[in-house]
Amino acid sequence: MALWLSPHFDYQGITIVDFRPETRDRFTSLVQEALAFISEKDPNRYRRVLREIKLINHLPRVTGAQYFRPSRVCYIDEQVFQAAKSLHGNVGALACVLVHESVHGELFTRHVLETSRNRSRIEGLCNREMARFARRANFNIEGWVEESATPPSYGQQLRFAFRRCLEMLRHDLFGR
Ligand SMILES: [Zn+2]
Repeated sequence: MALWLSPHFDYQGITIVDFRPETRDRFTSLVQEALAFISEKDPNRYRRVLREIKLINHLPRVTGAQYFRPSRVCYIDEQVFQAAKSLHGNVGALACVLVHESVHGELFTRHVLETSRNRSRIEGLCNREMARFARRANFNIEGWVEESATPPSYGQQLRFAFRRCLEMLRHDLFGR
């Protein structure tokens, strides 16, 4: 698997991978800082993160993050969190999202499978748990939760993927 050929970092049992050398150091430290933030502010929720997330991979996502089972992979779009830096602080923002994704993981572990019918209820549950974490960590996520509660449409996802592919190609070919 290409993953194991690419440099990766282990943080308390979670593997952090970024296939792109230009962003690797920045991405790896952001993820490590976010994990340390959760561990410091909320040890119980941190245990859930360690249990439910095994691999964090840097990939563009329209929602900023996406979680997959059974592999316990979490895809994170670093750009989204760098953009949040001035507004909320990107470490805290990523910490909140990792807590959110770990709830998806726990539900799967408990055999609660996501369907189109229960999706918004599950999303609400993960967001409420994320909000509880944010309150505990004294981190302001106002205005965020409503945005992330509506899943992006297929058209939105396509447009996003197209735009980000172009950006990456331009960057890789022309270095800008
Ligand atoms: Zn979610």
